[in-house]
Amino acid sequence: HLGPLQADAPSTGVQAGVVLFFRDLTSARRLEAMRADFVANASHELRTPLASVLGFIETLQGPARDDVKARERFLDIMKGQAERMKRLIDDLLSLSRIEMRAHLSPTQNVDLASIVSQMIETLSPMARERGVVIQAKLPGQPILVRGDRDELLRVAENLIENAVKYGESGGRVDVEIASIGPSHGEQGPHVTFAVQDYGPGIAPEHLPRLTERFYRADVAQSRDKGGTGLGLAIVKHIVNRHRGHFDIASEPGQGARFTVTLPEARS
Ligand code: ADP
Repeated sequence: HLGPLQADAPSTGVQAGVVLFFRDLTSARRLEAMRADFVANASHELRTPLASVLGFIETLQGPARDDVKARERFLDIMKGQAERMKRLIDDLLSLSRIEMRAHLSPTQNVDLASIVSQMIETLSPMARERGVVIQAKLPGQPILVRGDRDELLRVAENLIENAVKYGESGGRVDVEIASIGPSHGEQGPHVTFAVQDYGPGIAPEHLPRLTERFYRADVAQSRDKGGTGLGLAIVKHIVNRHRGHFDIASEPGQGARFTVTLPEARS
């Protein structure tokens, strides 16, 4: 493999060519390891509910064949497991679609305020069920960003749903959009979309890893709440494609704050 590199490189550049080659190899290996890790995780996440469904089918075909009560109960459990597999596959497909478009910047101007208020309305029955009040501080006028409406709806959905799910039951969730000036060392006006809850929050050691696929601070709790562990990875990918920033801050015991910063579009 070194041949062509050496042949192409000027005599003083041979060393640089060789170094570059090794660097590329390491990053290729790292990518390959990440991909293998992802496939292993995804397979494991799908295999667990599938094994449970197969186990119940065997029981229903054998020992519980004539037990009507058991049948009803087992069918309910199997339905729950099948729904979990569907959620997982839907999230995996969303991630892969977003990744395929990663290099394309969105070109449409969309109103972030209307997107967020639509999502608050969609999630209000779920919040009501948990006795959570969503308090919105949204500007009266449109807040334009260059974006993909469906993807930004997804960002709002994942963050607000998490706050309702993991925040304090019977508590409050604050959702806020604000126009700010230059941000994160970039020129031009920016907007922030922030979701704050007042639940148990997140321990500092988990914070940097929460946007990794399948990473959860508490695996049992996430599964119990129907989580796939992909929500924040999806948020991060969408925000990156929109040339924005995604920050998570938490004071354990005081709640968590998730902030998306996007460049504001001029109409
Ligand atoms: P999940 O499907 O498990 O909710 P996410 O990617 O949306 O996956 O979130 C990853 C993990 O981050 C969750 O499993 C949970 O441990 C933690 N998390 C997310 N949002 C909150 C929050 N508002 N408060 C506390 N922990 C949270």
